[in-house]
Amino acid sequence: MKKVVIFGECMVELVSTSATDLKKSFAGDTYNTAVYLKRNAPGLSVSYLTAIGEDFLSNELLFAMGEEQINTDQVYRCSKRNLGLYMVRTDSHGERTFAYWRDSSAATQTLNVMTQAPQDIDLFYFSGISVAILDTAQREKLFELIATLRNDGCQIVFDPNYRPRLWRDKQEAQQWMDKSYQAADIAFPGGDDHLALYGHTNADDVLSHLTPFGIKEIVMKNGAVGVHIVNQEGQFIVPVQTVTNVVDTTAAGDAFNGGYLAARLSGKNVTESASFGAMVAGIVIQHPGAIIPASVLANAVMP
Ligand code: ADP
Repeated sequence: MKKVVIFGECMVELVSTSATDLKKSFAGDTYNTAVYLKRNAPGLSVSYLTAIGEDFLSNELLFAMGEEQINTDQVYRCSKRNLGLYMVRTDSHGERTFAYWRDSSAATQTLNVMTQAPQDIDLFYFSGISVAILDTAQREKLFELIATLRNDGCQIVFDPNYRPRLWRDKQEAQQWMDKSYQAADIAFPGGDDHLALYGHTNADDVLSHLTPFGIKEIVMKNGAVGVHIVNQEGQFIVPVQTVTNVVDTTAAGDAFNGGYLAARLSGKNVTESASFGAMVAGIVIQHPGAIIPASVLANAVMP
């Protein structure tokens, strides 16, 4: 059984359903990917590496992970902290606004409270958010861990998921993003992220920035425009069927990554995997929330 460890932060998600009502669930970029990966490749062992508190919401998250068959062997407790939280409000025009309470969450301490680093794993996944929430000393520890894993033959997978407010400034973000790309075997750059962070306006800009890092598999997402893949065999453009009934694009990229990796780890080639990732993302954006009901996803059948 192939072993995957996904590192990051899962938060409490509160969605306004009316002026007075909130719906509570759990979400976060890397957690969303873990869920969509495991749902689409149930034969994999998927562990989530994070820290949670000792509060009742943290316990509920552990239970939710169990329901998704995600291993909690890499979930650490941080007694003096709670889970991070975000709230989403959708206005009458369908525009979403987010508010976050995550600066002192338990997950920001993960590398400080981790007692048993992951080992003997096939794939390690992290994002720019996983890096951004850590202080500098923990970031250094993370990259030491990644180097050790990579030396042992583990594939490293990275998605920048650039969130400006989590970084001091663009320069700091670029420095750590580039270090992350340097450490990656598979990377999922997004068109919007690269425009905001580096000012790249097209795929050529993105790919020429990434070429020096020697990434084996670059999978560039660009909404409904299509997926651009570069690997040792060449370049591939995979079309995406445009979804007209878009309800909520939260987690589109995370769902794509989960579907893509599920297919790759099941032996599919890069173009088959991109088509499958796009199919999963295309279903997710037609439903509200980051994590949609598992029954809806049953329509996604791997080629
Ligand atoms: P991110 O969420 O990382 O910004 P994108 O917006 O590029 O990523 O979306 C990720 C994936 O979701 C795309 O590669 C595509 O497969 C799918 N997707 C996003 N928007 C649409 C859309 N309007 N129609 C169909 N698929 C979409």
